[in-house]
Formats: sequence, structure tokens, C-alpha cells
Amino acid sequence: MLICRDLPSLRSACAALRSNGRRLGLVPTMGALHQGHLALLDAARAAGADAIAASIFVNPLQFNASDDLARYPRDEDGDLAKLRDAGCDLVWLPPVETMYPPGSASVIEVAGPSKGFEGGARPGHFRGVATVCPKLFLQTGADIVAFGEKDWQQLQVVRRMARDLDIPIHIEAVPTIREADGFAMSSRNRFLSAAERTTAPMLYQIIKDVARKIAADAPITQVLAEGEARLTATGFAPDYLALVEAETLEPLAQTTTAPMRLLAAARLGSVRLLDNMGVPA
Ligand code: AMP
Repeated sequence: MLICRDLPSLRSACAALRSNGRRLGLVPTMGALHQGHLALLDAARAAGADAIAASIFVNPLQFNASDDLARYPRDEDGDLAKLRDAGCDLVWLPPVETMYPPGSASVIEVAGPSKGFEGGARPGHFRGVATVCPKLFLQTGADIVAFGEKDWQQLQVVRRMARDLDIPIHIEAVPTIREADGFAMSSRNRFLSAAERTTAPMLYQIIKDVARKIAADAPITQVLAEGEARLTATGFAPDYLALVEAETLEPLAQTTTAPMRLLAAARLGSVRLLDNMGVPA
């Protein structure tokens, strides 16, 4: 497994992996890797990648004042061991100054699906995501990139950005990998106390019930309000629970024939948890 920490060596390693028409898959991450991240490597391979590059970059541009960049978990040695075991071919570990050299002045702003939800709770977050992703795509020249459905809004923002900028890359969406009790895996889960970890899977159970009721034609506004009340009663501080048009993230007060997604964000102690699912599932 090649480890690249500067742009010239990344470019030549990626060019070698892409030689003779071989297709390169990219898995962008912020590290502190778990099974959810490793599933992205398998998905990129299944989508036709002959070689896989993973990036580990805690992108300061997507953190804002209320986020704690310094607190984000980091485990480079553990991550490299996991990627090696998973058969990753190359790891891109760029220093911040390589991604954003002094004088950097360009950002990408995606309207539409960035609006509301995570975009509302974390101003500037999707500007950071939409700016770093095309850089990673262009730096590696990847043919395929895998993103998790766990971050549904991010997936739609990246799809919109790639379409709008005519970036010739296939975006593979990967279903959320969950613990045995249904709790969606996330790097931040390690910050939950033992008691909070026991409560955490209720987020999934509650949104599953809400999704089932909506799919059975129960009144949406009422079902969402009941779901939020259940979250609060269970010990969460819900931020939003919303039914949206799956691609545009437009909130829905009535069901439509277009694909729909139920989105949830709730704080449990100091940890902000996200989950989502299709309706019908
Ligand atoms: P992160 O390192 O949290 O920025 O995530 C990097 C990528 O892994 C993103 O595409 C996430 O959506 C994806 N991801 C994170 N957690 C999961 C999960 N539980 N299942 C599937 N993909 C995930």
C-alpha cells in the first residue's frame, strides 16, 4: 500500500494505478475508520474500480466555530492498518498547507440541496465539503468515488456539484453500515458514554417507525411531531426530523411519487447523531 503525503508523488502514483485503462476508485474520509468506511472500498471495487485510493483529511474548511476541529478523532496508525487489511492500494494523507496553500481563494458554493438541515445547523459546512471533494477528484483523477448514504445530504450536494461542474466521475452511493442493534456507525460514536450508547439505537428504531407510518399513509406532520416527541422522551435533543424529496432535499408535507427520504439529527449528550432512510424503506 502506497502512502502519499505530497501532491507530485500522489499524481504519479495515481497515474501508474490508472495506466492501461485501469479504473481508479476513490474513498474520501476524515479518518478514525470503521466498517462503514471499509464498505466504501468494497463498493468502489464492485462498481468497477481496479485499484482503490483512500484519502484521510480532516478538512478544516467544513468545520465551523461550533464544531470542534481539534476534538475530531484521529488514529493514523490504526487507519493505515485497517486500509492495508482491506486491500487498499494507496492512501492520500495531505497536509492542510497542501490542500489550502497560503493565498488559496476559491471555494465552491452549492445552493439547492445544501439548504437547511446540516447546511442550516452548520453554516459553511457544505461549502467546505463541495470545495474539498473536487480537489480530491482532480488530484487523484479517480474514475469512481464512493460516498455513504449515512450522510445523505452530503451525497446529494456532491452529486449536484459534480453534475454542475461536468466532472466525469461515477459517484457510487453506499447504504449505511449499522451495528447489530441498528445504530449507524460513525467516527464520533466513540464519544458516547456507556449509558448514551444504550440509548443511541433508539434513533434508528424511532425513524424506522416514522418511515413505516408515512409509507402507510399516516398524516405526515403529525407522525413527524410524534417522532420528535418520542426522541425527546427517550433522552435525545432532536434538531430535525423531516421528510424530504430525496434528491433536492425539498421538505415535503405530503407524500409524492418521487423518491422520499426521512432525515434526522439529534444530540445525545455532547454527540450530534445523524441518520436517515428511504420512504418506503
Ligand atoms: P467521514 O470520515 O465521516 O467524513 O466519512 C467518510 C465517508 O464514509 C462518507 O462518504 C460517509 O458517508 C461514509 N460513512 C460514514 N459512516 C458510514 C456508515 N455507517 N455507513 C456507510 N458509509 C459511512
